[in-house]
Amino acid sequence: MEQRNNFGGEEKQMFHPNEGEKWICAECGAEITELPFDPRRDENGVISGKLYCHDCHKKRQSQFRNRQGGYNRRY
Ligand SMILES: [Zn+2]
Repeated sequence: MEQRNNFGGEEKQMFHPNEGEKWICAECGAEITELPFDPRRDENGVISGKLYCHDCHKKRQSQFRNRQGGYNRRY
């Protein structure tokens, strides 16, 4: 796999919806204007899978971490 390595720069590449396309957060319904990754698409170019806005993505990540952290340990 060819890898063009742009890491280390200050600029993060952001992806934006195509013209006429809308990205909606699956969690809060907010419109997403940019993402740090290119969403997965099916063969028709339609986005497959859920998208989350920045806030919800962060929330979900911390929830996941809490669930794994097990700070409610009981004996
Ligand atoms: Zn959201």
